[in-house]
Amino acid sequence: MSQPYPFVDPTLFTKHAGAELHIDLSAIVQNYHYLQKKVTPAQCGAVVKADAYSLGMIPVAKALAKAGCKEFFVAHLDEGIALRSILGKEYPIYVLHGLPSQTESLFLEHHLTPILNDISQLQRWSSLCQDHQISYSAGIQFDTGMSRFGIGQDEIDQLQHINWDIFQPTLVMSHLACGDTPNHPANQHQLKQFQALKQLVPNNRSSLAASSGIFLGNNWHFDIVRPGIALYGGNPTPDQQNPMQNVISLRGKIIQTRYVPKGAFIGYGATFTTPKAMKLALISIGYADGFFRAFSNKISAVSPDFPNIPLALLGRVSMDSLCIDITDLPVSAIQVGDSIEMIGNHYPIDQIAPQAGTIGYEILTALGNRYHRIYSSF
Ligand SMILES: *Cc1c(COP(=O)(O)O)cnc(C)c1O
Repeated sequence: MSQPYPFVDPTLFTKHAGAELHIDLSAIVQNYHYLQKKVTPAQCGAVVKADAYSLGMIPVAKALAKAGCKEFFVAHLDEGIALRSILGKEYPIYVLHGLPSQTESLFLEHHLTPILNDISQLQRWSSLCQDHQISYSAGIQFDTGMSRFGIGQDEIDQLQHINWDIFQPTLVMSHLACGDTPNHPANQHQLKQFQALKQLVPNNRSSLAASSGIFLGNNWHFDIVRPGIALYGGNPTPDQQNPMQNVISLRGKIIQTRYVPKGAFIGYGATFTTPKAMKLALISIGYADGFFRAFSNKISAVSPDFPNIPLALLGRVSMDSLCIDITDLPVSAIQVGDSIEMIGNHYPIDQIAPQAGTIGYEILTALGNRYHRIYSSF
């Protein structure tokens, strides 16, 4: 029995949609190969939780598996069940949020690997293995200083009561709080903690690094790394140039154009007044599409045909639309139905995110359901 896929049907919004979200699967695959090469002999897994950061868990995981990725991470049990429907059981799927009560049979049925995050989850899995005399696959997470998931200092003593006769964990992991800040002392501290704590459970594979952790150096790689954002084009090294390929292009269609005189108000709250006569384009993307209202009056976009002319977003982002200044484009260059790229190579997620007081991760995961999603073939 498999659950319905919990995310929106991507075929719902077709070519009539107000905007196109182009997702470059071959760029994701190139990013995967780049990371795998960097961490060899460790394995590079893939974090595809949250619908692969809104880019589509199923097409993304299919492309990555085809490219040679062998291990996948999701946050929720339901995500794992949906993912298993397209991946054979030779691909481990780790469920980061652990083992909710009375879900053991679902984990077994779908060959999912829970990441056990506290002693009671560990006890439940260990007795399940004892009862069936089978070491079912499960990972163990230690909290090494983030105070988020995992067995913490307050529970370490109880590890001695776990029966390891049958159950041998397949993965021991932890997660870095400051991986994107290479000089932060927390990184060394967490590394030492992890090296010590992983000795407390039977021999197994181990994993510490997400995207940014990979760039801290080989010591952080262990047996398997767990990148998410870097696969999807986000910069895992915020202080340096982005080594990853851009993956998305969000292109909003022009619904209407107009000329306005000097002194015209634009949008709700009249937060922008034209300083001169201007030509405006109304774009079919708004905050209901996850395009943050906090971008109001802050960012620019480009026409694919004139990539060197920045087109400022003027006034507030409305629920379903936003307004951009196309005064500087050649007069007959652009018309209703043409597209304007709001996010892409010219304005990547990490560049626009700070303008809305956020990070590239949130730009991706907020991407809405009304876009016509177009996947480059791979
Ligand atoms: C989300 C997550 C990742 C992936 O993180 P990125 O920074 O996107 O690479 C890895 N490990 C855990 C435990 C996570 O929750």
